[in-house]
Amino acid sequence: MDMFDNKETTGLENLGEFGLIGHLTKNIKLKHPGSLKGVGDDAAVLDFAGKKVLLSTDMLLEGIHFDLSYTPLKHLGYKAIQVNLSDICAMNGTPTQVTVSIGVSSKFPLEAIEELYDGIYIACEKYNVDLVGGDTTSSRQGLVISVSVLGYADEQDIAYRNTAQEGDLLCVSGDLGGAYVGLQLLEREKMIYLENPKIQPDLEGKDYIIERQLKPESRKDIVELLRAIGVKPTSMIDVSDGLASEILHICNQSNKGCNLYEEKIPIDPMTYDTAREFNLDPTICALSGGEDYELLFTVKQSDYDKLKNQPDISIIGHITEASAGRNLVSRTGNVHELKAQGWNAFKGE
Ligand code: ADP
Ligand code: MG
Repeated sequence: MDMFDNKETTGLENLGEFGLIGHLTKNIKLKHPGSLKGVGDDAAVLDFAGKKVLLSTDMLLEGIHFDLSYTPLKHLGYKAIQVNLSDICAMNGTPTQVTVSIGVSSKFPLEAIEELYDGIYIACEKYNVDLVGGDTTSSRQGLVISVSVLGYADEQDIAYRNTAQEGDLLCVSGDLGGAYVGLQLLEREKMIYLENPKIQPDLEGKDYIIERQLKPESRKDIVELLRAIGVKPTSMIDVSDGLASEILHICNQSNKGCNLYEEKIPIDPMTYDTAREFNLDPTICALSGGEDYELLFTVKQSDYDKLKNQPDISIIGHITEASAGRNLVSRTGNVHELKAQGWNAFKGE
């Protein structure tokens, strides 16, 4: 690990598996009364007091899901937790516990794993979840992180993908495409660096989209907002693979069609301008970019008044009968079939 080359480091072989687990988990203080037993036995013991239990898992592999040449380990730990919390939010639930499993190769000193866990604990603290277990193994090659998350919801609050109804409004939180454009920026600076290590990365003024890529936030706040204003989504999914793909999941599973209006898709000005610099269509970045971790959901038309003035929620279309198709209505009024790869897959037209 280059970033630790100039520091005193501790080889993992000095601790052994149990030493490492003990070291990484020694400061855990469980926050939830439902976390009866956390790290330290053969299984965690949890109490959900009559609620429905939500469970989801995501695995991140070095070289596939992250590139350590521009991803600080602390951000990576933070992101590994967020992408999991996002799945519980997407069910309209409250995340409460996580387990974290890691496969680590000997190229990582203890200090690197500590950085990773710093990010993990910061995310757990901020989103009020307990780390209650995991697994630790060695890996021949890259770093592997697998997180499982548990949460709860009342049965009537759970929002599935397959329950959108004709006439429902299609809504999305935050803005889209930023994480993808941020990734393009990081990849470009990496190429420049590899060609000439003397050139410093030029990420000036691009903080927002870099953060969207490296340090995403799950939208627990949106779940809480919807509850507070008395809106139960008729269906919901989180935006991990791009808006188009997620809308198609809802339409396919609900057996419905949709009209999505290009002009309504929320795109931050920095995302827009940087996409243009890269000769990319900002709309396609939003439709097919992915990793935004916003919430896409449908609501009854009668909820329109409760949502129309929410700054963090955009109404981007509506649900139709299946036979009407899945349509993207462009700014000029042309109708395209909505495809998961965008209508001109990143060619910049
Ligand atoms: P077992 O042999 O039963 O799999 P382990 O020795 O792997 O048990 O784990 C001991 C305890 O430490 C368990 O409670 C487990 O959940 C926890 N644990 C192991 N690895 C991690 C990790 N990377 N992060 C958090 N907890 C962990
Ligand atoms: Mg184990």
